[in-house]
Amino acid sequence: DISATDVRGYKGHDMLAPFTAGWHSTDLEPLVIQKSEGSYVYDVNGKKYLDALAGLWCTSLGGNEPRLVAAATKQLNELAFYHSFWNRSTKPSLDLAKELLDLFTANKMAKAFFTNSGSEANDTQVKLVWYYNNALGRPDKKKFIARTKSYHGSTLISASLSGLPALHQQFDLPAPFVLHTDCPHFWRFHQPGETEEEFSTRLANNLENLILKEGPETIAAFIAEPVMGAGGVIPPPATYFEKVQAILKKYDILFIADEVICGFGRLGTMFGCEKYNIKPDLVSVAKALSSGYMPIGAVLVSPEVSDVIYSQSNKLGTFSHGFTYSGHPVSCAVALETLKIYKERNIIEQVNRISPKFQEGLKAFSDSPIIGEIRGTGLLHGTEFTDNKSPNDPFPPEWGIGAYFGARCEKHGVLVRVAGDNIMMSPPYILSLEEIDELIIKYGKALKDTENRVEE
Ligand code: PLP
Repeated sequence: DISATDVRGYKGHDMLAPFTAGWHSTDLEPLVIQKSEGSYVYDVNGKKYLDALAGLWCTSLGGNEPRLVAAATKQLNELAFYHSFWNRSTKPSLDLAKELLDLFTANKMAKAFFTNSGSEANDTQVKLVWYYNNALGRPDKKKFIARTKSYHGSTLISASLSGLPALHQQFDLPAPFVLHTDCPHFWRFHQPGETEEEFSTRLANNLENLILKEGPETIAAFIAEPVMGAGGVIPPPATYFEKVQAILKKYDILFIADEVICGFGRLGTMFGCEKYNIKPDLVSVAKALSSGYMPIGAVLVSPEVSDVIYSQSNKLGTFSHGFTYSGHPVSCAVALETLKIYKERNIIEQVNRISPKFQEGLKAFSDSPIIGEIRGTGLLHGTEFTDNKSPNDPFPPEWGIGAYFGARCEKHGVLVRVAGDNIMMSPPYILSLEEIDELIIKYGKALKDTENRVEE
């Protein structure tokens, strides 16, 4: 019973929907969400669900925050659209650029470039880095190193950077200038007896060996999410980023921090870079930048990179890149209001107040015989189902354990992210302590149902 059982009136619908399992999936009834309210969403039949993924890791302020609705309405009435090309711009986009640069304190950032999404932000990173190296007269320094299991988006280049095989198969990806190094998942990949620090050292050595094999003069940048999100919520092992950054510095390789999920408080710091002492040259943000209310992403550029781009001696001419909706005034106005709310409500304190209960409540299920690992930090959570508590004993994929658990959560009124036998959650920051109790009780019920099914 993992398919929807309620009649929702959209069987055989007309949408080619993102990330569906092929044409036949339109035979399934989609879960049609109609309304949101605080930490909850409602489907077209009026059933209420705790939105434990905050939409798609984005609605940090939950449903219908009236100030965001008002900010959008005000901007729509004043100026619904004007572009930011050829040295024209709008006040909300310029104000938002300033706010973002002030907010990012892990390393100094000098410029912000606006996009509509995280994927576009990461595509922009590749063009910026190539432009930068071309301006420096080193056009062969072109390759990017990303990590297996990372997710950086769905456009051709951001999907290439991503390290999930499903994003490459059928599309002739990754592009040839993208290389992948190890996923830093200690539980899954450590060797017997290896400590987290030793594991991190081994991964940093592997990274260095890859750089040396390819030739450091060909490697332009390394991209990483502070905590891997869609790959299964994988926080970095101790000393990992310290060691990786030392290697990158040694070979003059730029660090791109993909803060699309971690940014704006989700980990209990404004950015993941603060939490893990990452000093990036470039940063990608999206999602919680506007609490998901309007599509917007951005790239933050360090002075070292932007100085080269803007330098008098740069003979390359225009950085010919931009989107009609780069710096869309309505998106920027909503993002500005979102950042204002984060400050006024001290969102970092709020996340740190509620996240221990969220993390500890879920960790209490670690003893379940069908759970291999429960992990997470801040308001990010991952559960991985395996047999015998071992990363090497997956359940047969045809059992569909993760899908079954996800369907049971839905039945009990909680929406989670399912990817194979990985379950992920990233609830809104406005979650109350009572709502965390509800979430944990319903997770527990879905887990019991799933344990029973495995026993059968
Ligand atoms: N980077 C990360 C870390 C993400 O999690 C995502 C989306 O989930 C993206 C990039 C792509 O963002 P978008 O879906 O807005 O293109």
